[in-house]
Amino acid sequence: MSDPADVRRALASWVGYLGDIGVRELDLRAAEPAPRAVPAAGLAAIRETIGDCRRCKLCEARTNIVFGVGDPHARLMFVGEGPGADEDARGEPFVGRAGQKLNEMIRSIGLQREQVYIANVVKCRPPGNRDPEPDEVATCSPFLFAQIEAIAPEVIVTLGSPATKTLLGTRAGITALRGKWGSFRGIPVMPTFHPAYLLRAYTVENRKLVFEDLKAARARLDEPR
Ligand code: URA
Repeated sequence: MSDPADVRRALASWVGYLGDIGVRELDLRAAEPAPRAVPAAGLAAIRETIGDCRRCKLCEARTNIVFGVGDPHARLMFVGEGPGADEDARGEPFVGRAGQKLNEMIRSIGLQREQVYIANVVKCRPPGNRDPEPDEVATCSPFLFAQIEAIAPEVIVTLGSPATKTLLGTRAGITALRGKWGSFRGIPVMPTFHPAYLLRAYTVENRKLVFEDLKAARARLDEPR
């Protein structure tokens, strides 16, 4: 994003988002400076850079850093918001109930979990499974961006609002965005409902919408290259 007008729009959108979620003040100090950008590197090097991270307050209650899992050359990548209790205990994303649902979603388009890559916006569990806070997203997302650069997927599916807002830099909610293509650094992004939301609101309509989004992602992968 080099056009100053784009930067202004993205900033205004971000500040608006902070206001929407009730943030009135920002403490911009961090235990360690947040990385402005993580240099392009392989996944192992990115994991090494993260180290035993103490860059934000999420480190205080975490058991494991949940880096990501799957094929490092995956053509399709899924991005969730942050680890829950099961993921924190195991150190792997999407292994609890929402993970079972995500596995089903992946299988519904003829793929296996091992064939895709799965990561989250934040790599440590937000206490009580709350949404990650803006300072936590700002600190951790450069690592996700570096993972995306390393994997270079052809399509990304964002799961729920925090992942979609982080990659698309928008304030709009998931209900407005799902099913519509966006783009992250030139990679097509299909936003869909988070599997945990699907489990809570397990209606035929919601299942149909998610399946449509996933089929659109699959069709994009199947386009002749
Ligand atoms: N929800 C997420 O967003 N990510 C996980 O890894 C698990 C549940």
